[in-house]
Amino acid sequence: MAISGARTQNHPETASFGPAAGLSCRECGQTYDLGPRYVCELCFGPLEISYDYGAVARETIEAGPSSLWRYASLLPVPADAAARRDLGAGFTPLTRADGLAGALGMRRLWVKDDSANPTHSFKDRVVAVALAAGRELGFTTFACASTGNLANAVAAGAARAGMRSCVFVPSDLEAGKIVTTAVYGGALVAVDGNYDDVNRLCSEVAGEEPWGFVNINLRPYYAEGSKTLGFEIAEQLGWRIPEQVVVPIASGSQLVKIDKGFGELGKLGLVEERPYRIFGAQASGCAPVSAAFTGGYDVVQPVRPDTVAKSLAIGNPADGVYVLDVVRRTGGQVADVSDAELVAGMRLLASTEGIFPETAGGVTVATLRKLLAEGQLDPDAETVVLNTGDGLKTLDAVAEGAQPTVTIPPSLESFRHADPVSVAAERAGNVS
Ligand SMILES: *Cc1c(COP(=O)(O)O)cnc(C)c1O
Ligand SMILES: [Zn+2]
Repeated sequence: MAISGARTQNHPETASFGPAAGLSCRECGQTYDLGPRYVCELCFGPLEISYDYGAVARETIEAGPSSLWRYASLLPVPADAAARRDLGAGFTPLTRADGLAGALGMRRLWVKDDSANPTHSFKDRVVAVALAAGRELGFTTFACASTGNLANAVAAGAARAGMRSCVFVPSDLEAGKIVTTAVYGGALVAVDGNYDDVNRLCSEVAGEEPWGFVNINLRPYYAEGSKTLGFEIAEQLGWRIPEQVVVPIASGSQLVKIDKGFGELGKLGLVEERPYRIFGAQASGCAPVSAAFTGGYDVVQPVRPDTVAKSLAIGNPADGVYVLDVVRRTGGQVADVSDAELVAGMRLLASTEGIFPETAGGVTVATLRKLLAEGQLDPDAETVVLNTGDGLKTLDAVAEGAQPTVTIPPSLESFRHADPVSVAAERAGNVS
């Protein structure tokens, strides 16, 4: 029997959540009516959307818009979500990465490049779904606790939708992420504390204000947005699930939902079901899930983050235990890399593929490299590595090693003497 009522927000009778049937507790299975809820009243477990899927055909999806709304029939949103004022996130390039593959000794490697999203990170996906559902629930102000990219995406998405926003970030965030959030004109609250402090504060504010916090009271809807990464990877490979996928972990939601996306495609008969392995990547300065995996634990011990990979700096990851389940079930691994290794990973992707990732992308590429070196990843298997953000937002991380090769007076003689092409080649050799 579903628990209903007690909504903090009245959604109109005409509200539509597409194929979503209700909410259910991930721990005890208790069901609830759709609404702005996120924890189970019986056991405090997280709630997740449950669906009543009809038949879905590849052709219908392929004929849809070039955005994540091509999968609207698999998301908790109205069928006409694409027609509303929205940023049009998703359907980002899946790029064959022969340059990076060559450098790593691999044969079939792709980069799923989510830096191509409207605000240059994967967060536009989860925000698109949270805003679409949140508007159906009657919210007009949207908020979030963010490590940076989510604040960008909420501020921009709300501006586009004609809604208000109030986003919360740690005050020590990269300057680039402050500017790229503030410019959209909503309220931006910098909190003296780390992400976990920001998140705790936001849970309290969410109890007071009638706002849609995309990753708190709208989290069940928000999380479904990450399934579209799994859908797109499979569709772009020609309706095939890759053998190996390497995914960065902050809260862990993205990794868990990519697995859910693959699973749904298989159940709906849109792809052939076959084994795949999901690998998780963290920065050593914030690696609670990696530590739990390596230690063989079922619980994730919170840590205090200290890494340049600020977008992944969640010391108490909400979906950490579910990441452990997915990775263990699929035969993957979780590993972590140092700040020096992740910066080298950023440079490696930039220099081999012409894709400049933010620190999170550096973490993922460096983890791919490390797992290959350790023999944990198969260099011959079809592999997709995620780039979830844009290097222009985290310039400081690479600035030291990314300066002019030489600085010369404006004379031909100085240019010849300096020999910049040889110097650059020599430095590149030393770096890799
Ligand atoms: C938020 C974020 C992630 C990870 O997201 P989770 O779903 O919380 O694990 C990865 N990369 C970037 C760039 C992000 O901003
Ligand atoms: Zn429960």
